Amino acid sequence: MQLPLPEKKKCLLILADGAGDRPIKELRNKTPFQLSRKPHIDRLSALGEDGIMDSIAPGIRPGSDTSHLQLFGYDPHQYYTGRGPIEALGVGIDVQDGDIAFRCNFATLKDGKVVDRRAGRISEGTAELAKELNTIKITSVPGVQVIFKESVGHRAVLVLRGHNLSPMTSDNDPHDDGLAPLRPMPLEHKEAAHRTSAALAEFIEKAHLLLRNHPINRQRKLPANYILARGAGKLVKPPSFESKYGFKGAIVAASGMIKGVGHMLEMDVIQPKGATAGYDSDLIAKADAALEALKSHEFVFLHVKMPDLAGHDGDPGKKIECIEKIDDMVGYLLKKLDMAKTVVVFTSDHSTPCSVRNHSGDPVPIVVATEGVRLDAVKHFDETSATRGALMRITGKDLFPIILDLMGREEKYGA
Ligand code: ZN
Ligand code: ZN
Repeated sequence: MQLPLPEKKKCLLILADGAGDRPIKELRNKTPFQLSRKPHIDRLSALGEDGIMDSIAPGIRPGSDTSHLQLFGYDPHQYYTGRGPIEALGVGIDVQDGDIAFRCNFATLKDGKVVDRRAGRISEGTAELAKELNTIKITSVPGVQVIFKESVGHRAVLVLRGHNLSPMTSDNDPHDDGLAPLRPMPLEHKEAAHRTSAALAEFIEKAHLLLRNHPINRQRKLPANYILARGAGKLVKPPSFESKYGFKGAIVAASGMIKGVGHMLEMDVIQPKGATAGYDSDLIAKADAALEALKSHEFVFLHVKMPDLAGHDGDPGKKIECIEKIDDMVGYLLKKLDMAKTVVVFTSDHSTPCSVRNHSGDPVPIVVATEGVRLDAVKHFDETSATRGALMRITGKDLFPIILDLMGREEKYGA
């Protein structure tokens, strides 16, 4: 007997941001994954190879941006110079090689001190304020252009465009309320660093003058009268996803940072109606968008932000709710996916333990499921069960080769 040649497969990678956790003393030393009712994610575990993954390396606490780059097979040490450029791409700025981008907050300055780093969590009128800031002309440094764009809530992005600029500049964010803002300083004795810190300092000063007198701020108890900038980064353009792998990739996401990673890799970025980066996101809308994208793309990435929020909020009950909501979405997807033609991966980009309220260096559980994959005995998707799986402990760097191999698209190494 001769078996037929296998068909090339597509891949759907589903990522529950920050869903990995640590045992919680108050909850019988169980993790949110262990405490949630998630029959569909568990079924994936039973259908696949399980393991744990350090998205960067053991013990390293990854950001969502660096971990996503690595999970897509791009070395963040090479392509990540700061969060600014990714945020800028995420809000739709056409960032160019050499641009310096900063993440910004609208903040409240009073008597020389930052009294609220989020300007009372301002949610309206920031587009108008941003429009005003785009009129700023930098005069102390020749040839520098300002591009400023509002993002979600109190967040915004600043891009400095011009020749001879550098991300080696400190910023003005004191990182706590009640402190005076800092003066941007060059971090090395090079002209580019001096030019950039001087341009940033001038922008911040002029922005304060414009914002202080803006009508929107006259009605606010906590006026958005000051810009805090941080995370300076210079865009280093990686090869596009399609040129690297020879097939098309799509990202279904609402989080600005993840969309920014998608734009950076020139993937198709899809945000369906109802999809948000909050607890209220319509996950079925996202699932439908992913299924639709699978018709025209070989690789589709489906991102869900909410478990990370619950981790940062230190709220395990909320995290369990998020996981169960994601499980409903996985059930909906499994009904419609053909496992003979699709590799389905479910994992996180990092752990955000509720007890830590931030990202930790703990590895995350992962399952890779498709028809014909070598099965193991793991039937539950959680941090402990996954350690008994066939994938064992991998790093983010290993993930894409494993996916490509199961898709039938990995090049042979040697003859
Ligand atoms: Zn994350
Ligand atoms: Zn996070």
